[in-house]
This record gives sequence, structure tokens and C-alpha cells, in this order.
Amino acid sequence: MSGLLEIRNLRVHFPIGGGLFSKPKLLRALNGISLDVQEGEVLSIVGESGCGKSTLANAILGIQKPTSGKVLFEGKEIHHQRRRDIAERIQPIFQDPQSALNPRKTVKDLIAMPLRVRGAHSAKEIGRTVDEIMELVGLPQRLGHSYPTALSGGQRQRIAIGRALVTRPKLIVCDEPTSALDVSIQAQILNLLADLRAELNLTYVFISHDLSVVRHISDRVAVIYLGRIVELGPADDLLDDPLHPYTRKLRSAHLSTAPHQELPKPVFKGGFPDPTNPPLGCHFHPRCFDALEVCETHVPGSVRRGRSDVACHLYTGLGTPGDDMTEIRR
Ligand code: SF4
Ligand code: MG
Repeated sequence: MSGLLEIRNLRVHFPIGGGLFSKPKLLRALNGISLDVQEGEVLSIVGESGCGKSTLANAILGIQKPTSGKVLFEGKEIHHQRRRDIAERIQPIFQDPQSALNPRKTVKDLIAMPLRVRGAHSAKEIGRTVDEIMELVGLPQRLGHSYPTALSGGQRQRIAIGRALVTRPKLIVCDEPTSALDVSIQAQILNLLADLRAELNLTYVFISHDLSVVRHISDRVAVIYLGRIVELGPADDLLDDPLHPYTRKLRSAHLSTAPHQELPKPVFKGGFPDPTNPPLGCHFHPRCFDALEVCETHVPGSVRRGRSDVACHLYTGLGTPGDDMTEIRR
């Protein structure tokens, strides 16, 4: 089934470093991502920092060009369209509203900005729409002429959400939208996003490093590790009964804390690998307690288990000739 958003074998590679006497290294931020997002769905993308989540967000927003592969929105390649046209239908909400909002603009001006850029509306229409949006995101009218620096973190995130909604987009890419907020405010913003989704039939790609945040909002969850999806499935299945050893580790860290406590780092063998020189075979193998010999040399293909897809040799039918086992690549 194709979706509102279709991502096909997306690769984004960056050269980094390099000088007079050294060649640049290649960072494979995304290394063959394929996903479909259905209209009205919330798909979360989870992983540690440096796994490629924000690069994926930027590719969906049309900001980051793919090295290869495709991102299709309503069946059309995003990177063949004008940024302005894409921006009306796909909008971002970022982590830190403080840095995303111009401190010299008032709340109303900030929310109105995408409409003014579009230039197709009278001042009266813009005023009316901004009032509606403020109501929708729970900002009292009396704050309309305030500056963002005078407001709380939660109120600032409401402005950012309002601004994202003002062109009536279909898809919102939320990149860690609550991680800069206090825990009590996080829940309010998550509830607001859930309400808005229902009311406006929005679709979200929701990026987070925090499984507890993801559980409340997602229909499906994709876990990425070093630029590849390692597990993708319905949120309940993936969070209650994860299949991939990496997902299990992320989840056990999350389970070991009481609610509202800071998450401990998951326990892995070794640290996060150098993404410019990722381990051969399964990228996770040096940190995996279940690793098999084949994991060091062969990239696991993705296989279906129940309602989830998982890329791990514990499920690929290890050693079976003709399986996804013939490939040795980065
Ligand atoms: Fe661990 Fe091997 Fe599965 Fe990778 S493929 S997660 S190393 S068991
Ligand atoms: Mg990020």
C-alpha cells in the first residue's frame, strides 16, 4: 500500500573533514531507508543522537537533498518541487522553540509569517486566521502582541505549532518537539499534538530519542541505527515486545525508571561507533550481546515477524542458502 509519504531506498551521504593532505571521510547519515506513511497516521522515528533522525526529517522537509533514492509526497518527488510549494503542505516543528522564533516579532507576527510569505491573503484574512490558530493551539488572545522571550517554553512551542499549522499542511514533521520542555509541559504539548491530529486529520512523522514519549502518540514506530531501519512495527507490538536487540536495549533503559525521571543510558557493549567508519555486517554487532559470527560480515535483510519488520540475523534464518545473506557491504 502506498502512502501520503513514500520513502524509497533513501541515502544521504556527506563528505566531512579532509584537507590538503587527507581525503574527506564519508558520513552515511542515511543508508537505504524505505518507509510509507499513511494519511492520518503518526509514525515515530526513534534512535540515539547521531543515528540519522534529523537528516531524515530534513530530507522529508525538502531541505536535505538525497544522495540517491526518493521521497514522494502525494506521489510526487519532493526534491523536484519548489521548496515554497512543499512548505505549504509539509511543515516542521523543531525541538527548541526559543531558537526557531525571531525574538523581535510578536506572537501574531510569528504565526502570520508563512501566510505573509505566500502573499495571497489580505491583512484582514491573515488577522482572522491567526486568531483562529491561537485559539486552536491554546494561546490566549491577550498574548498576541507579546514577544516570545516574555513567554514560557510551553507557550513558545504553542507558537511554533501554530505557525506550522497556519498554511493548513497535511504532514507535520516533529523533530524532538518536547525534549527541551519540562516533563509536566511535555505532556500538555503531546496532548495538544494528539488533539490537533484528530481535529485536523494531520499526519505526523514524530522524531524522538525517548520511547516513553513515543508510546503515547504513535501508531507505528521505526527504530534507526546508523542510518538504517532495524525494526518497524505497530507501536504496541514494538514497545511491549520488541524483536531487535537494539530496540530491546532502548526499551529496558526506559522501563527501569519511574515516570518523570531522567532516563539512564541504555547499557551496551562499547560506545556509539564512528559513523564515518561503521562496523561491517550488522552495524550494531560490536555492541550486541546476541551477536553471531555471521553478524560481523553480513548485513541482515529485513524480515517480517508478526506485524513488524526486523533486520537481524536472529530472524533471517541464519545460514539458509539464498536468504538475505549474500551481501557484504557497508
Ligand atoms: Fe545482534 Fe546480529 Fe541481530 Fe545485529 S544481526 S542485532 S549483531 S544478533
Ligand atoms: Mg536531532
